[in-house]
Amino acid sequence: MAARRVNPSLIKVHRTYTVCELADRLGIHKNTVRNWQREGLEPIDRGRPVLFHGGTVRAFLKARNTDRKQPCGPGRFYCFRCRTPQPPAEAMVDFVPLNPRSGNLRALCGTCGGLMHRRASATALARVMPGIEVQMGQAP
Ligand SMILES: [Zn+2]
Repeated sequence: MAARRVNPSLIKVHRTYTVCELADRLGIHKNTVRNWQREGLEPIDRGRPVLFHGGTVRAFLKARNTDRKQPCGPGRFYCFRCRTPQPPAEAMVDFVPLNPRSGNLRALCGTCGGLMHRRASATALARVMPGIEVQMGQAP
């Protein structure tokens, strides 16, 4: 599972926070804050206890959330095993209608072989999966 995204707006920009206060405020483990420090979150100085400026933390989290967004382009599924958008194996895709207008596309990951799903509207199949012959499945 991908790590949960934290909400940068929970941090007040004009406050300073200790590692414990940040962890409490965001509902995360103290070690997560230490990881962020390794990833480039700068404390105010080298003093103890380590203090972070709220504005710095908020900017760091916003940048981090943006980096992690990985939109699926045409012909791609988001693979939860690979944690990246992947093309379907053998260009084989099934469409399972859920209602008259939309359904689930289903394919195996071309990299790890895991099952991948993507919601799509029935009229958008050619646009979402260009050049791929989508097999129409039965409604469950
Ligand atoms: Zn995969």
